[in-house]
Amino acid sequence: MKITRILAHRVDLPLHETTYKWSGGKSVTVFDSTVVCVETDSGVVGWGEVCPLGPFYLPAYAEGVRSGIRELGPRLLGFDPTQLGVLNTQMDACLKGHPHVKSGIDMACWDVLGKVSGLPVCTLLGGRFGESVRLYRAISQEDPDAMARRVAQYRAEGYSRFQLKVGGDPDTDIERIRAVRGVLRPGDRLVADANTGWTQHEAVRVARAVRDLDVYIEQPCLTYEECLAVRRACGLPFVLDENIDGLDVLLRARSDLAMDVVNLKISKLGGITRTRQARDLCASMGIAMTLEDSWGGDIVTAAIAHVAHSTPEPLRFTSTDFNSYVTVSIAEGAPRRVDGFMRASAAPGLGVEPRRDVLGPPVLVVE
Ligand code: MG
Repeated sequence: MKITRILAHRVDLPLHETTYKWSGGKSVTVFDSTVVCVETDSGVVGWGEVCPLGPFYLPAYAEGVRSGIRELGPRLLGFDPTQLGVLNTQMDACLKGHPHVKSGIDMACWDVLGKVSGLPVCTLLGGRFGESVRLYRAISQEDPDAMARRVAQYRAEGYSRFQLKVGGDPDTDIERIRAVRGVLRPGDRLVADANTGWTQHEAVRVARAVRDLDVYIEQPCLTYEECLAVRRACGLPFVLDENIDGLDVLLRARSDLAMDVVNLKISKLGGITRTRQARDLCASMGIAMTLEDSWGGDIVTAAIAHVAHSTPEPLRFTSTDFNSYVTVSIAEGAPRRVDGFMRASAAPGLGVEPRRDVLGPPVLVVE
């Protein structure tokens, strides 16, 4: 089987909450998502999606996904999409870095492999652990009371895991964490995610001010070294995210005992193949994981469900259903949240069928 064409569609994904805000005053109102289609000489077609969290979250931006596919795509024509190791080696040989460019292509090739083999991607990734995948809700940065009201609202919808966007003024963040923990019950879990927004001394202050609470601290500062210093000073369960973008830093962090949970995002690592590698390593080392992506719609959500559902349950901290945050559905068959949980599709591949009328014509054709 050979790749004959690679197409990219651009889709705008507005938000039900109209805007999503996090540390440092960063916000997005409409997400720019790229849907990738890999066509083959056998007629089987695979789908992937990449949606950066704006241009200022990771070293990734939406137009860069398309631009990167324009650069890399011609070098992949003729390759077998079912041979994921060979394909990823070729992608790395032709384009250094830029994992977000490779992610959608890799995802689409997993979809092809599943369709060809007649198996859901989660089976190909190791099998289905448990009945469903527990979801968290990200709570956009607002005033403490507004965030507490949001948490109460989403809790009533079935979520029991919440990730607060902090990383702002430390005193307000302390209020945010206290206000939200106050509306939660025992057994609910709360993560205060600063998204690199605090300086080291601010992070230590916040962590010490809330250490009587049941709360996790996620990625407080910009650098790994600052985060490690905060981790050693705070005594709260700790999550690393933005710094963990490959195996080298993951192994270093494990050696330093720098975190209890690691956040693995599909496009941050370069696709499902690379995420599986990190996921399996974490599972072997006993590190729990948040399995997700930067953002996305139905196709990213489907891919997250397959990666998460094939991860052993004790090490599956949380995942998220981005397709419930956005107002546009780009594919049928994607997982739908039920009481704070979702399940990977049992259909072959990712189990999604894109809505061609929503995608519109491709903005890029590599052939
Ligand atoms: Mg995070």
